[in-house]
Amino acid sequence: MIGSKTDDNEWRMDNRKINNGGTDKIDNSRKGQRAVKKRTKEILDLLEQEYGTDYKCYLNHENAWQLLIATILSAQCTDARVNIVTKDLFQKYPAVSAFANADLKELEQDIHPTGFYHNKAKNIIACCRDLEVKFGGEVPGSLEDLTSLAGVGRKTANVIRGNIFHEPSVVVDTHVKRISKRLGLTKEEDPVKVEFDLMRELPKDRWILWNIHIIRLGRTICKAPTPNCAECFLQGVCIDYANREKAKKTLKKIPGKKKEAAKKTADEKKKAAGKTADKKEESSKEDGR
Ligand code: SF4
Repeated sequence: MIGSKTDDNEWRMDNRKINNGGTDKIDNSRKGQRAVKKRTKEILDLLEQEYGTDYKCYLNHENAWQLLIATILSAQCTDARVNIVTKDLFQKYPAVSAFANADLKELEQDIHPTGFYHNKAKNIIACCRDLEVKFGGEVPGSLEDLTSLAGVGRKTANVIRGNIFHEPSVVVDTHVKRISKRLGLTKEEDPVKVEFDLMRELPKDRWILWNIHIIRLGRTICKAPTPNCAECFLQGVCIDYANREKAKKTLKKIPGKKKEAAKKTADEKKKAAGKTADKKEESSKEDGR
């Protein structure tokens, strides 16, 4: 169960382990808890120093329903491409009712460049029909109402809640998932579990900014699959970086053949982990996770 006490405790134990320099020794003390908070605060301060505190939405929109549709289109697609497509799309379909009554095949062609266009077109039409029937054409503000719409999962709902209603919300996209893990704020793969970990670890007033900052970091420095750690201002507080440096030092101390064997094992593990992550990513196409 997400957010259960057992999950909480297990995660906290692991995070304290992480914060104890990545050693197997778990620092279960209050000091350990304080270390987690201190490091999280350092990360937040550094992000703020580098990127400021301005709220920015990367998907162009003029109102709530446009952002809703743009977010549905952004699943497995870059924001830049979505913005190109929506420029004409919102002129052709100027209201929720226009999408609700759209011809499926025609809409598929209109949104074709964003990928997964069969499903996206079907979802957009169903979502807009839901908006008209259930909410009088208005985009609702609660998580429950938003996720009751066709094609709308937690990620899309949280984008709307944060950007339109300014409700504290954590949006877990591919950048947020990858980098939060590298920074040691979660060890989860499932986006909903990542969301709960982040809500637990980050102050509420930083939830929206976390999305904005981490997406920017992910696009410019902490890229997948190879992060540019040499250029990164978070190097000193990053668990993934610390672990990799530690592994390099350990490898240096191992002589000859043993070193080769240790490197081979490490490479194999890395490869296996990469394949598992790719499979999970592929199997989780709903809502752009
Ligand atoms: S130090 Fe490297 S892994 Fe860590 S956040 Fe920066 S770029 Fe990403």
